[in-house]
Formats: sequence, structure tokens, C-alpha cells
Amino acid sequence: MNPTAIHSLKELLRLPKRVLLVPHKNPDGDAMGACLGLCHLLRAQNHAVTVISPNEFPDFLKWMPGADAVVVYEKQEAMAKGLIGSAEVVFTLDFNTLERIGPMAEPLRAAAPPFVMIDHHQSPDGYAQVTLSDPDMSSTCEMVYHVIRALGLGDSITPSVASCLYTGILTDTGSFKYAAATPVTLRVAAELMERGAPHTDIHRNIYDTNRPERLQLLGCALQNLVILKEFRTAYITLSQDELDRHRFHKGDTEGFVNYGLSLKDVVLAAIFIENRDEGIIKISFRSQGDFSVNNMARAHFEGGGHINAAGGRSSESLGDTVERFVGILPQYQKALME
Ligand code: 5GP
Ligand code: MN
Repeated sequence: MNPTAIHSLKELLRLPKRVLLVPHKNPDGDAMGACLGLCHLLRAQNHAVTVISPNEFPDFLKWMPGADAVVVYEKQEAMAKGLIGSAEVVFTLDFNTLERIGPMAEPLRAAAPPFVMIDHHQSPDGYAQVTLSDPDMSSTCEMVYHVIRALGLGDSITPSVASCLYTGILTDTGSFKYAAATPVTLRVAAELMERGAPHTDIHRNIYDTNRPERLQLLGCALQNLVILKEFRTAYITLSQDELDRHRFHKGDTEGFVNYGLSLKDVVLAAIFIENRDEGIIKISFRSQGDFSVNNMARAHFEGGGHINAAGGRSSESLGDTVERFVGILPQYQKALME
């Protein structure tokens, strides 16, 4: 942990403050875990803390302690704007640019409170007074754990804090299997278990609470799987009609992209999901080894992320987006076949 940044953070939090914690849009387990974990910890230090999410978060995270009190900007804009106007410190967690929070960036930029960024994506923007950015970390939740320890607050990790942080580490490491999970990550997870994170319950709450419609949507996604052997690539599409037919809930498609990558010899997997409300195709990319989907998402799909997991978008139709994707693969053929 950068000692200067930790010192500045200590100063910012020396007296009780009105604190906001903000995850990225379409928050995942890591973003919500970091927000809610810090929320419990900072409340115990007498700060007045609120989590504001740019939009709704998935049902499979609603069991998390404190999830019921999260303010959703898209649904409670007036209330959220009031909180933003009076915030004294704003933590932005698990993202590297204010573009990742959509329209909520506007009131935050206008209010210009001291920002604290804790994040593990590459190329952080420079908007924060305190920037804690480390792309080598497994997850923002692991970083938050190290920050808590560096602040000398390790003994304040209650079972609620531990459960939230464990969740983000679990989900961002694919249950500890990705290369980003280090021996230190596993030691942190062990410490969180010792501090009361019920790992079996957490796993079940996240992965084993499917609605039948979600499994049927997965069946539909797998029917749509296309394999391009010559590019070691597999991709899935889901149209809005297919989502509607399976009563899509937010979060239902989480993890679907990994099925493409589970194929022997596939190096690049993608999923293209139509969102008619927003007029976009949301894309997730995953890769094996050295092939950087971060670079691909940045260069062609207004996105980014990490080397092996990234996302992006397109404002073209589903068919045109897929056609464009297939059209750029020859540029990457050498890297894909290495
Ligand atoms: P997912 O595919 O699970 O939504 O995201 C995978 C990774 O890519 C995450 O680290 C996420 O933060 C990042 N990511 C997803 N969508 C976008 C995007 O539109 N822009 C950027 N910069 N990163 C994204
Ligand atoms: Mn993350």
C-alpha cells in the first residue's frame, strides 16, 4: 500500500464525516462487496455512510448485509443528488474512470468532493485526491482489506465486513481459480473466514440460488454458441426477445461468457447481450493466457477491464456488432493462435 495515500486517507477520515461509497454501473460482487464492507467498517468509526449504486444490482447479491439500504441512483435520483450535494468524502470502488458510473458522474463532478479511488483496473484516471490503484490485485475487496489493515483497523473487521469482502474476492477470482489469485489472496480469504465470513453460505447465496428461468436462459445462450475454430474463439448472443422470453432479471447472464472459454483450445470468448432500453449491445470478453481482451475492448468497443476479463458496448444492432467482431478477428489471429 502506498504510504502517502494511506496517510492522506487517515487524515480525511480523522473526524466523523458524511461518506458516500460508489460502485460501478451494473455492480458485481467485487464492487458491492467493497462498498458494503467499507460501509460497515466506517459506520463503526462513527462516519455517516451511504452506498449509492448507479443502477440496480443483481438479486444474487441482495443477501449481503446492508444491501437493503443501498440507494439506487437510477430509481432514487432526487434523494441521491441530495446525498451527493452534502457528501464530505466519496469513495469510488472497483472502477478507474467516472465514465463507468453513467449519468451519476455529472452531479458528482459538479459537487467535486474529495474522492478516494480504490481499484484494480489498469490506467486509472486522475480525478481522486487519494488514488489506491493496483492492477496486480485479485479484487478491489482484497485491496480494501489491505487498506483497512494499513489504517490500523484490522480488529474492526466484523463478520459483516468479512462476509462482504470475502464475496468480492470469491467472485472476482472465479472462486480462487484465476491467475490473479495469489498466496496472499488466499491468506486474506482465510483471515476473513476467521473473522466470521461463512464461506459455504456465501457460496450458496451467490451460485446456488437460481430461478428455473435463469437456467433456461442459459440453455438458450448455449444453443446460440458459435465456435470459430480458426480463431480459437467462441461467442454467444442473446437478443432482447430471448431475454424477455425467459423473464430476464439483472444478473441472470453473469458467468455465461465463461462457458465459451470452457471449450478445449478456446482462447477468446465473448457474449453479446442486447439492451433495447439503453439502445446498446453490452459485451463481455474473457481470454486465456496472454491474449489481452482489455486491449480489444478499448480499441473496438468503448470499453476496457483486465487482460483476461473485459467489457464494452456497441450502439449498432446485435447482428452488426457480431459481424464487426468477427471482422476484426483476423487482426488478432496471430496472437490467438500462439
Ligand atoms: P464483465 O464482463 O463481468 O461485465 O466485466 C469484466 C471486467 O471488465 C470487469 O473488470 C469490468 O469492470 C470491466 N468492464 C466491463 N464493462 C466495461 C466497460 O464498458 N468499460 C470498461 N472500461 N470496463 C468494463
Ligand atoms: Mn473487481
